[in-house]
Amino acid sequence: MSEHFDVIVIGGGPGGYVAAIRCAQLGLATACIDDRTDAEGNPSLGGTCLNVGCIPSKALLDSSEQYHRLVHQFPAHGIQAEGVSMDVGRMQARKEEIVAGLTGGIATLFKANKVAPIFGRGRLMTDKNVAVLDPASGELRQTISAHNIILAPGSVPVELPAVPFDGKLIVDSTGALNFEEVPARLGVIGAGVVGLELGSVWRRLGSEVVLLEALEDFLVAADTHVSREAARQFRKQGLDIRLGAMVDKVSTTAGGLQLEYTQKGESQQVEVDRVVVAVGRRPATDGLLAADSGVSTDTRGFIEVDGHCRTAEDGVWAIGDAVRGPMLAHKSSEEGVAVAERIAGQPGHVDFNLVPWVIYTSPEVAWVGETEHQLKSDGVPVRSGMFPFAATGRAKAMEEPVGLVKIIAHGETDRVLGVHMVGPHVSELIAECVVAMAFHASSEDLARIVHAHPTLSEAVHEAALAVDKRAIHKFG
Ligand code: FAD
Ligand code: NAD
Repeated sequence: MSEHFDVIVIGGGPGGYVAAIRCAQLGLATACIDDRTDAEGNPSLGGTCLNVGCIPSKALLDSSEQYHRLVHQFPAHGIQAEGVSMDVGRMQARKEEIVAGLTGGIATLFKANKVAPIFGRGRLMTDKNVAVLDPASGELRQTISAHNIILAPGSVPVELPAVPFDGKLIVDSTGALNFEEVPARLGVIGAGVVGLELGSVWRRLGSEVVLLEALEDFLVAADTHVSREAARQFRKQGLDIRLGAMVDKVSTTAGGLQLEYTQKGESQQVEVDRVVVAVGRRPATDGLLAADSGVSTDTRGFIEVDGHCRTAEDGVWAIGDAVRGPMLAHKSSEEGVAVAERIAGQPGHVDFNLVPWVIYTSPEVAWVGETEHQLKSDGVPVRSGMFPFAATGRAKAMEEPVGLVKIIAHGETDRVLGVHMVGPHVSELIAECVVAMAFHASSEDLARIVHAHPTLSEAVHEAALAVDKRAIHKFG
């Protein structure tokens, strides 16, 4: 007889592990299967996010930003430091310590909540049976079953046929997190979230970074005012962003790697030492579903679900990067919580219109809701207000007077429909706007709320006032 659970979760990332903990909190006997290991071959929970995504990238972003500040910003404060150097080995070791602490923490949380961790690769079979396979050999270790299955296999980087990974000089985001020295010249294919964050890390440490982006426009998901200002700031930092650039080929030369690309119909070349391919991620659903599992994927491999994360098979759910919607850790986790609550008979809920985006560059970029362009294309009447951080005392005192906040409200009801920001610590400021929008706030509500002085949040307050053309500290 196979071991039976109330819930089996396949995937131990921020979707899967959070779903498993919430299921256990709700009194359900829960197992979580994950196949990921650390460098020593030990099981390492936390998925892409904790092992090779959100956390290690933020650790390197922070280290490289501290270094960059010390060299370039501290002199403005009167702080002179001589003989400053960067120990990349120490920076990487610190990153690994943070990752190990957090992944180990998930194992402890599982123990505390009585979630059964199972190391192996899960495959959904018929009748909610799950085969657990050895990740290396593919050999069957055991078969388990449950009343409910949550599929949370996450995603993997997309490979470009014209620029295949070699794991050394041509790498994906994981490779770019693990460079042992600063590459003199770094080519990044794709100026999306990974390209900008990891390009920034190595640029700050001294690499010449060229980003080749296929689209003609920069950061298309963000509002134009914000993406334009972000591009301006990134270019000032030396990120060489080339738009409308389609990479055709990579070849090895005596001096490094040559990337050939087409821009405006012209063939161009750039020579680099290393290449990071950051052109998006695809669902990790290869081999996940037996032919008779009852669950289907679309042509791109995404598991097909409805708005409540239900698949076509009763009692089988799917969440996170492997289903429609943004590939973000917090979106995966919220879907995990909602599904656990639905399984327990509660009304789980995720508001997909209010999933914030953050890009952890410097300045940071953050947004929630719609862009002005989207709203106008949909025929929605809008009013918007903007406020620059340069006009706030706090940003000036911090020596970071760059960027802006833009608030977009409905032209008639004044309800806030989108907030877009580029500037210092906007990863934190966006939370106020998500809360406001969740409570259906108007721009006037934000304008009437007292914001402490001097804080960066005053830029949000003033942008709300600017919707009504009454910002106080703004000329014109
Ligand atoms: P994953 O985190 O991918 O976890 C899935 C887990 O399931 C993995 O461990 C996988 O090995 C395992 N698995 C897959 N198939 C099976 C199987 N058949 N059996 C057993 N186990 C299986 N998002 C943010 O919100 N903020 C950020 O700052 C951010 N930074 C990022 C930086 C980088 C460099 C990258 C690459 C991604 C970043 N992301 C960020 C995206 C974020 O990591 C993902 O959106 C998130 O991890 C998705 O969670 P998930 O649980 O759906 O999948
Ligand atoms: P992305 O979708 O953000 O960006 C990929 C970029 O590559 C796009 O701008 C796209 O136009 C471009 N592109 C695609 N094909 C190309 C080609 N052949 N040549 C040149 N450019 C090409 O994807 P990503 O940066 O790889 O990140 C993957 C996902 O991981 C993100 O979408 C995001 O969901 C998640 N992520 C989130 C964060 C965060 O929240 N801070 C950080 C990193 C990753």
